[in-house]
Amino acid sequence: MGIKGFQGTSLLDFPGRIASLVFWAGCNLTCPFCHNPALVLEPEGYPDLDPVDLLADLAGRKSFIDGIVVSGGEPTLDGGLLPFLKEVKALGLMVKLDTNGLAPQTIAELISLQLIDYLAIDLKTSPDRYPELHSGSVLPAKLVETLRLCADITIELEYRTTCVPDWVDEEVIVTLGELINGAPLWALQQYHPEHALCEQTREITPYSPGQIHSFADLAGRYAQRVIVRGV
Ligand code: SF4
Repeated sequence: MGIKGFQGTSLLDFPGRIASLVFWAGCNLTCPFCHNPALVLEPEGYPDLDPVDLLADLAGRKSFIDGIVVSGGEPTLDGGLLPFLKEVKALGLMVKLDTNGLAPQTIAELISLQLIDYLAIDLKTSPDRYPELHSGSVLPAKLVETLRLCADITIELEYRTTCVPDWVDEEVIVTLGELINGAPLWALQQYHPEHALCEQTREITPYSPGQIHSFADLAGRYAQRVIVRGV
């Protein structure tokens, strides 16, 4: 674990803002379709970035960035995340957290301490299939707990589903939709197999754009706004 990657400026990853990206290594899942497998499987292949140096870099950028995106891997696994975000907020920067949603207590604490401004939670498949996403123990109830706590939050919230054939279909969209009913934003993303963690998954043919848009129509019954990315 720890901070392993940094990208100084991005216009794409924090909607409506210019942000720097900070990547944490390590994850409590090994999704076969993971798009960042090296950070998950071989974190030791990347040198640790010193948070002090990173904060100094961010301080130098704060006149032209609005905030940072905290991504991974799964950043909520690292006890260093909270103190790092306190320092980031002290710089006056906004924070977007990308998470798989399996750490409801950490997410609740970060929200209550006003350390995040935008929360993006991945919904990978129906909760009952989450144990298939890792060889170790996975508690889907943790994801459901996070979804419950997010029903009442006032920070910006986005759910994201990458539409991987075998993992997402109409039934899954309905199951997830019922869990997040009334959510402000649900982004459905096209699956790009080139860099997937599992070799077999790299051979899956993505859904057609028409199928993704059909999923989006279905998702629109549950979320206030649905967008499609990557088609
Ligand atoms: S897709 Fe996300 S949750 Fe899944 S293994 Fe990769 S980093 Fe972890």
